[in-house]
Parts: sequence; structure tokens; C-alpha cells
Amino acid sequence: MPDSRSRRLLPLALSALLTPLPALAQDILPAAQAHIDAARTIAADLQPTYDFFCVPGNARPNDFSAPAMTPTKLFDNLYVLGNAEAVVYVIDTGAGLVMLDAGMPNEGESVLVPGLQALGLDPADVIAILLGHGHSDHYGGAVYFHDTYGTRIGTTAADWQTIESDTRTDAAIKPARDLVVSGGVPLDFGGTVITPVAVPGHTPGALAFIFDVTDNGARHTAGMFGGTVLATAYTPMAGLERYITSIAEYLEVAQAHGVDVEIQNHPIFDDTPGRLAALATRTPGQPHPFVMGAERYQRFWRIVSECMQADIITRNAAGR
Ligand SMILES: [Zn+2]
Ligand SMILES: [Zn+2]
Repeated sequence: MPDSRSRRLLPLALSALLTPLPALAQDILPAAQAHIDAARTIAADLQPTYDFFCVPGNARPNDFSAPAMTPTKLFDNLYVLGNAEAVVYVIDTGAGLVMLDAGMPNEGESVLVPGLQALGLDPADVIAILLGHGHSDHYGGAVYFHDTYGTRIGTTAADWQTIESDTRTDAAIKPARDLVVSGGVPLDFGGTVITPVAVPGHTPGALAFIFDVTDNGARHTAGMFGGTVLATAYTPMAGLERYITSIAEYLEVAQAHGVDVEIQNHPIFDDTPGRLAALATRTPGQPHPFVMGAERYQRFWRIVSECMQADIITRNAAGR
């Protein structure tokens, strides 16, 4: 690819032939630009999220070959481990461990078990795995836990269907239909309540999970949105349009629950690496880097929604 200086030396017609237009960088439709402008207005202290979704060319799928992250205790009762771009959360309910997602295929024994042990947790205590959605980078280790420890696996009826109808994934990796979880129906694990919220879009049965965490005893409420659309090209248009509605519906539930802690199963657009670094060097009295505050949490998801709406307009106009 010639640089811009050498391009200027070429005859104009030849230059035009050689130089592909940067995707979406020009001719952004006014309706799409209005959404991007709205996102920029509210981005303020959430620049990484704006940059990922609103700057053309930056959104991308998670990297399946990303390394394992350092298993980390986030809150008194919440841990994170697994592949750095498809992480697994572990909630210590006091009546057993509940995992949100189960990692990449074949990572159950090689990554999750040693990771849990490094955190001082017993893999045999994992009583349930709840799936953010039914793709293999989220249920990859589920069969191992089910077969080894009798762990129950839960997702929505719609995403059991997603798993069952997926012909591209090796059948040995796919968990068999077990617990059927419904949005809006809280799950109680020995007094620890996890509220699933239906967020169809990326898949028909994607879920967010809302639950309390404590930071040295101080209570906060976490929201783990398990069905984020990272790169629009992988989701059909109807799913993208439903996703916008799902974000709006989810934000109402999150507001009602006072969600003030933002966590992701694909933590590649919310500055998780920076927040983990801040947590590692946090001194007593400093704020917890994952406690975002309820107002900022709402803004975070509105940025995602605005930029996805811009993408939808652009894609529709291009007939994609
Ligand atoms: Zn997915
Ligand atoms: Zn995924």
C-alpha cells in the first residue's frame, strides 16, 4: 500500500484505481452521524468504549487465540479467570460456586480448573454454569464440568436451541440440554440471588446477569451483559435491531437494581486490562476500579447502543 505522499505523485486516475476507500471513513450518512455525535457527547470518561464501537474499523470479534488471563479476585465474592478475551466469572454464593460462562472449547480442564485452584477455589464446588449466550467460546468447558463434577448447565430455551442447531461445533463440546433459565425469573443459590435478563440480539436467547457483590463488605450491584455484539458483520440485521431494544430494556432493569459495577464476558471494549492493573495496585481507601456508578453504567450502554444504531443505518443503506 503506497503512503499518501507517494500516492500524490501518481496520475490522478491511476491513484484512484490503486487506492481503496477506507471502509466507512467517508460519506457517513447524516442519520448515522447523528448517533455517533450523540455517543461522543456522552462518552466523556468512557473513551475506550466510544473508540471501540464508534470509530470505524475498530470493532472486532474476540481473539480465540488470546492467552489465559491471570486469575483474579475482583470482589469479596467474585472472581474472573479464563481466556483474556472470553472470560469466566465465578460467584461464591456461600452455597457453592456459580460460573457465568465456561470458557473456550477444551479450556475446562487446562485453564479453568488450575485457575480456580490458583484462586483457592475447589472446582468440585462449581454447582452451576449459567451461559451469557449459546456460542462455544462461552460454553467450551461446560461439558468437562458437568461430566467431572456434576455441574448443572443453564441457559434459555432459545439458546439451548442455538446450541442444538449449531452444526459447525463438534458435538462433543456441546452441553446437553439441562437447566432452562428465563429472563426476569431470579435464581436463588443459598440466598445469593442472580437475576437473568433476556437480551436477545447476538443470539435469540442471550442473557445479562445482575447480582450483588461486596467490596470489603460494602455492597454493590454487578451487571454482566452476556450477549454483546462486537462486530456487526456476524449478526443478522434482525438480530441487530432486536439488540437495540434489548439494551434499552436491560438498562431499565439495571436502573431498577442500581447496577453500578460493569463486567463483560468479552472485556475488550471496557478497559478491563487497565482496571485490573488499577485493582492490583489499589491501596486502602481508593475507589474500586470496577465500581462505575449507576449513572455512568447507563451511559456506557447508551454509547454502545448509539454506535450500533449508526452501524445499522450504514449497513441498511449499503444493502448488507
Ligand atoms: Zn457469540
Ligand atoms: Zn463470544
